[in-house]
Amino acid sequence: MELNTLTLPLDTAITTKLDEAIGWARESSLWPMIFGTACCAIEFMSAAASKYDISRFGAEVVRFSPRQADLLIVAGTITYKQAPVLKQIYDQMSEPKWVISMGACACSGGFYDNYTTMQGIDEIIPVDLYVGGCPPRPEALLDALVTLQNDLRTNKYNPRRHKDFKGKLDHV
Ligand code: SF4
Repeated sequence: MELNTLTLPLDTAITTKLDEAIGWARESSLWPMIFGTACCAIEFMSAAASKYDISRFGAEVVRFSPRQADLLIVAGTITYKQAPVLKQIYDQMSEPKWVISMGACACSGGFYDNYTTMQGIDEIIPVDLYVGGCPPRPEALLDALVTLQNDLRTNKYNPRRHKDFKGKLDHV
């Protein structure tokens, strides 16, 4: 086929900055991985199901392999016994990656103020967005997702923020 038979709008040009093109691509193709341990995970299932339909936001490719995910959503109570597992999953995700802490338990331990429960996952991994509530409704999670997408489009995140983080399980 000769090039001149293609119906391309040859008189049209789109200009942008490389950062903006990358931000646009990232915001439109988030691949979440859910680390769900309790009731908040049910709210995530609702967000992903037909009524709330997370695929409207381009984030429906939920992976349970950290190597295929770039958005970790932690939903539920995290005990100190689970902490190394969560940390390992986070470490196995490749950069760039983002973390949403969903619900009071993941954000702060919730009402489980006891010796078994981590008082917020940011004791061990960096968190980009916190979603409050017990449980947060699916709309709250989708609101966090849209906020993250807006931030990605404008390249708000410092690429070093995760590398510079030192949590309780980071030794050095
Ligand atoms: S924040 Fe509330 S709903 Fe979510 S895991 Fe904790 S107790 Fe359950």
